[in-house]
Amino acid sequence: MIEITNLAKTYGTGDNATAALKGVSLTINDGDFVVLLGASGSGKSTLLHTVSGLERPDSGSVKYSGTDITALSDDKLTAFRKEKVGFIFQQYYLLPNLNVDKNVKMGADLAGNRDYRKIIEAVGLSEKLYKFPSELSGGEQQRVSIARALAKKPKVMFLDEPTGALDEDTGRQVLDYICKMQKESGFAMVMVTHNGNIADMADTVVKMNSGKIVDTYSNQSRKTAY
Ligand code: ADP
Ligand code: ADP
Repeated sequence: MIEITNLAKTYGTGDNATAALKGVSLTINDGDFVVLLGASGSGKSTLLHTVSGLERPDSGSVKYSGTDITALSDDKLTAFRKEKVGFIFQQYYLLPNLNVDKNVKMGADLAGNRDYRKIIEAVGLSEKLYKFPSELSGGEQQRVSIARALAKKPKVMFLDEPTGALDEDTGRQVLDYICKMQKESGFAMVMVTHNGNIADMADTVVKMNSGKIVDTYSNQSRKTAY
């Protein structure tokens, strides 16, 4: 469980100050699929980054099963981020000089996981093991980044517009893989998206507006297909 309390973050100072988060509180239960919705600039990415340990908030706390990550030293926070949580972004951030196998192995090594080949198989890339990122389509590259994130066996996965760079059909296919993996592994997901169809698949939808949560609702009948 992640307990987020009174999270605040301002970028810049004086006349250039932008309050990106103005006191956000939220609980994310184990295995939950939470979607963050809201206009551009409403603070979704800042919330994702501060909750996942990519950025530090100015104030407030983010407790993972009771441990406040905002109180960790820089080294411990980095270790937490590398070992405990998964990230999938609109950009794939694959290492161009490593093949599919080695890109995914990198994620696996962070968590000491040795059976990462099964994960490559699960995202349908067994045939592409020795291809380099530049030899893959956008959808395939995103599936490599999904496999790399999954190889850490995280309890929570953070996704920022994971299908944003893909055409609709490919995006749907990638999302199907993500949802299938969540069903199998049971990790929690926190996803920023503009796509209302994806929001319909979440357990919980959180709406943001100028740095605040303005609405939270549970989907009574969560859609299981996109
Ligand atoms: P969203 O993800 O909903 O589009 P963001 O969290 O990216 O919103 O941004 C919230 C606000 O904070 C916006 O006004 C944005 O311009 C500002 N912001 C985000 N990141 C930075 C940054 N690194 N430096 C300055 N301002 C930023
Ligand atoms: P890694 O696990 O690859 O050592 P991290 O866990 O820090 O690195 O980040 C996971 C991925 O997110 C990396 O591929 C990294 O390039 C990318 N990343 C790191 N920081 C940011 C950020 N502020 N915004 C977007 N992507 C980031």
